[in-house]
Amino acid sequence: MGPQRIPDPRSVARRRQARERPLVERGPDAQLIDRRRDGHPRPPAILVRKVVKTYELGQIRVRALREVSLRIDRGDFVAIMGSSGSGKSTLMNILGCLDIPTSGTYRIDGVDLRSLDEDALADLRSRKIGFVFQSFNLVSRTSAVANVELPLAYAGVDRHTRRHRAEAALAAVGMADRLNHQPAELSGGQQQRAAVARAIVTNPTMILADEPTGNLDSRSTEEVLRIFSRLNQEGRTVVLITHEPDVAEQAKRVIHLSDGEIVEDRRTAGVHDVPPAMRSQKSAHEPLAADAAERP
Ligand code: ADP
Ligand code: MG
Repeated sequence: MGPQRIPDPRSVARRRQARERPLVERGPDAQLIDRRRDGHPRPPAILVRKVVKTYELGQIRVRALREVSLRIDRGDFVAIMGSSGSGKSTLMNILGCLDIPTSGTYRIDGVDLRSLDEDALADLRSRKIGFVFQSFNLVSRTSAVANVELPLAYAGVDRHTRRHRAEAALAAVGMADRLNHQPAELSGGQQQRAAVARAIVTNPTMILADEPTGNLDSRSTEEVLRIFSRLNQEGRTVVLITHEPDVAEQAKRVIHLSDGEIVEDRRTAGVHDVPPAMRSQKSAHEPLAADAAERP
């Protein structure tokens, strides 16, 4: 599922300005810090309780999610696996506030989404969530930098700042030399990196990705995973859906869905550990000596 209903950026921006809340916080990842000033731990990034999603298709009811409960801490890197039709995209769309559950509750950073009106929900979504899809979903015949600027346009950020930040986001994913290329002029891997730049340009705390490497070759897959790992190391919560065990190995926790239920939930690294992809990169730079010293 893609972002089908695209509201007019100008009206969204006007409404938002009227509410006088800064959408995009600048500065060094202030909202990523894991603790409140009073020292108490913050609520988890994601808290899903008994979420059910039922699709009605004429006479047929499809139970896509059956009472799924899930807690994801800030800074975790979670892979969601499962066969086709097991409910992965349905769950991800709910986590990304692109869809609402039939029943059950969902809290982001402690905020119950049912308590928000449409504007507040759109606001929270653009502040906290960056979404990446399998099919990139870039706007065709539009430059990479203009594509990346789009979420900032919705947020009412001025033209100059928008351009500056979009360029920085593209540079962060190794695309500084492709700013003015249109999607058709980019490889699949480059398109997906542009899509990742678009997802991070608002500085969200969470990155949600639905089979982001599903259409990529192995080299581009590796590049995109390294970017996700770096975003995670910077403190962002990353949740990605994948079919590929190699991809899931880059996460710190692997959840399996089957028939709309969580059937396995396995932690492979600590929430605050260095993501596996960054570890292997580090050891490539600092080989043997340190490793050897630690061995008995
Ligand atoms: P996955 O991403 O794991 O392949 P989905 O979440 O897309 O699975 O789908 C879960 C189940 O819900 C499937 O049986 C699918 O056919 C059904 N489904 C998904 N989206 C819709 C929809 N919009 N309308 C009706 N049924 C749907
Ligand atoms: Mg899917």
